[in-house]
Amino acid sequence: MVGLEFDTREAELECFDDLEYYVIERGVCTGCGTCAGICPRIGFENDRPVMQDEYDPHCNSCTQFCPQFYVPFSRMEEMIFGAVRNDRYLGYVDRVVSARANSDAIRGVSQDGGVTTTLTKYLLESGAVEGVIMAGVSESEPLKPVPIVATTGDDVVSAAGSRYSICPVVMGLREAFEKGIKKIAIVGTPCQVQGIRKVELFSEDRYPFEIKAVIGIFCFENFLYDEFFKSFIEKELGIELGEINSVRIRNNSFELHKNGEIESIPLKTAFKHVNIPCTLCRDFSAELSDISIGAIGAKTDWNAVIIRSERGRRLFDELVEKNLVTLASDAVDLERIKRLARRKKAHVERTSAETTEFLTHFGTAEDKVKIYELLIALHGPRLETISEATEMDDSVIRDALESLKERSWIRETMDKTTNTPRYIPEKPETVINNEVKKLNSKLKIAKKKAISELNSSYTRRIQEKIEMQG
Ligand SMILES: Cc1cc2nc3c(=O)[nH]c(=O)nc-3n(C[C@H](O)[C@H](O)[C@H](O)COP(=O)(O)OP(=O)(O)OC[C@H]3O[C@@H](n4cnc5c(N)ncnc54)[C@H](O)[C@@H]3O)c2cc1C
Ligand code: SF4
Ligand code: SF4
Repeated sequence: MVGLEFDTREAELECFDDLEYYVIERGVCTGCGTCAGICPRIGFENDRPVMQDEYDPHCNSCTQFCPQFYVPFSRMEEMIFGAVRNDRYLGYVDRVVSARANSDAIRGVSQDGGVTTTLTKYLLESGAVEGVIMAGVSESEPLKPVPIVATTGDDVVSAAGSRYSICPVVMGLREAFEKGIKKIAIVGTPCQVQGIRKVELFSEDRYPFEIKAVIGIFCFENFLYDEFFKSFIEKELGIELGEINSVRIRNNSFELHKNGEIESIPLKTAFKHVNIPCTLCRDFSAELSDISIGAIGAKTDWNAVIIRSERGRRLFDELVEKNLVTLASDAVDLERIKRLARRKKAHVERTSAETTEFLTHFGTAEDKVKIYELLIALHGPRLETISEATEMDDSVIRDALESLKERSWIRETMDKTTNTPRYIPEKPETVINNEVKKLNSKLKIAKKKAISELNSSYTRRIQEKIEMQG
């Protein structure tokens, strides 16, 4: 992109400024670490990205790969699986099985059945990859996950177990790059999987590594380490974090296990400290991974495993052939997994319906409001993309875009690379504040007119009555 000319306004609308405005300040950054993984100028503080340097406003990689900007799911599914989703709630599914590790040592340290640790250890020890990007454990802060690049089986085993707080896992890309590691696998939550897949599919060989396997873990929600673990659990409840060996979510409780004892926090209480962007997340099962691994739907200490892609299927079959994992004889309770995945999607759909309804109060038809919302999600798309995403007639879209332009909800700009127009949404606060102002002044005029009309008719009626009585 270097060498292209941008006007000042466009430069302001590209790169980290946009990430800051649309994602970080709006409170929708999940802390996945993708932006910091692909840009050495971005660091991480308090679970959120920060610009540490002068930046290149023409680069735009962080907004391109951030999964909180558009994730074109159908297109990515076609690219990864050769077909779009065959399950509305779980994405593209080839096979679902229940399995667990055969190694006692792995089962002894892992969260559920140890399939994740077994799989990543195998990838490294078989030479299929040189490094696995994953969440390890902080050396200084108990129970805090930190991004690591595991290069040996022992590294992977020491990272076993779930740590329920935000970790910018994808940031590990930078360490892998600095160490010259070329063949990479990654283990991540669904948001992290979306970020790494965008890099894998859309970076056009910009980076000198190859992503060989994407392992997703189920995730319903996550927490902020400082707020939940430090302030609430340690300070408010007085539980020493350093004494806790593992954390489990079960029986509607957040269980803290320490040397045979269990401290339970009701999930309702824990949810008060949830990472807010997680309440907007729609992906439970890491729909874009090669293999997704979780616990729900399987027996205690076993894993539910969703095998999705061709490379995922090959990899899992190798684990079975090499006797590294055992398949359970009973089937996975697929309905339980789907129920949870459905709950996650339904919640967001409800929020979106409320917002859409609110915007129609300004007298804009629902289809136009939906196009405005889409422009925000797609971050200034071209007509072709809008048409693909909405499946509406181009003439209907053009009318809607004209009317949104007239109302100053959007503006048109020329994409200098492709020489085609892009439609940029104006900032939601500006749009809403302008509409509220317009509505208020319309209401004021209408109120004045209505009061004077009704008053004159009211006094006329009273006068007529007096005259009739007289
Ligand atoms: C925040 C979070 C929420 C989850 N919610 C659910 C749920 O609702 N339902 C469900 O069935 N399963 C959930 N899981 C997945 C579950 O806890 C297990 O990770 C999964 O069953 C795999 O088990 P395992 O025995 O194979 O894992 P292990 O072999 O013990 O491996 C665990 C893997 O998880 C990685 N990891 C640990 N902490 C994090 C983190 N904070 N971010 C990213 N990666 C991490 C480690 O690097 C390791 O690779 C959640 C996991 C996390 C981290
Ligand atoms: S890429 Fe991830 S960490 Fe970076 S801004 Fe987007 S959501 Fe946040
Ligand atoms: S709930 Fe969604 S956004 Fe939150 S950590 Fe899990 S995958 Fe990421």
